Amino acid sequence: MARNLDPKCKQCRRAGQKLFLKGERCNTAKCAMVKRNFPPGVHGSKGYGRLTDYGIQLREKQKAKKIYRLMENQFKNYFIKAHKTKENTENILLQLLEMRLDNVVYRAGFAKSRDFARQLISHNHFLINGQKVNIPSYQVKVNDVISFKEKSQNSKSFVNLKEQIKKNEPISWLSVDPDKLEIKVVDKPSIDESKGEFDPKLIVEFYSR
Ligand code: SF4
Repeated sequence: MARNLDPKCKQCRRAGQKLFLKGERCNTAKCAMVKRNFPPGVHGSKGYGRLTDYGIQLREKQKAKKIYRLMENQFKNYFIKAHKTKENTENILLQLLEMRLDNVVYRAGFAKSRDFARQLISHNHFLINGQKVNIPSYQVKVNDVISFKEKSQNSKSFVNLKEQIKKNEPISWLSVDPDKLEIKVVDKPSIDESKGEFDPKLIVEFYSR
């Protein structure tokens, strides 16, 4: 599968905000957005220039694409799918992105980054409603139960997993049981839930031009 191979910190510096692509390092003073909060490149030290409306919309789309680790076509397909529904496109776009299995595993605290969540899923560590699923883009549904495989729980690589999950910030639409290593999808995410990481409205405006 095609992947964005640009250095992760450079992607944040280009977006002008932390995109939390490197797990624990993102919350430390080593974060490049703490040390070099200006765009990459020779003229980067001049700072972030003023953007046109189009530039602002484009930057928002690029930011969301990088946050969810998607390529242009995959991202655009989510927009097309959201646009085809009769519901609010911004809301549906956000739900399609947030309800990807790799995002759910990351949000629930089982992985420190979406890239790592993707790796765990493709290495067959998860079951959905008791069935093996190894597709990171799998769309979870309300009432789905995602569990960490029993065999994987005994692996030395995951000895601290329960403690790690307990420290994670709760997500209102997910019910996480750290002891059972289980996630239940109790609701659909809403725009208020996006933590202000990006503005879906600007993305809809970008594709509707
Ligand atoms: Fe972005 Fe900072 Fe994490 Fe690097 S360390 S990926 S700049 S948030």
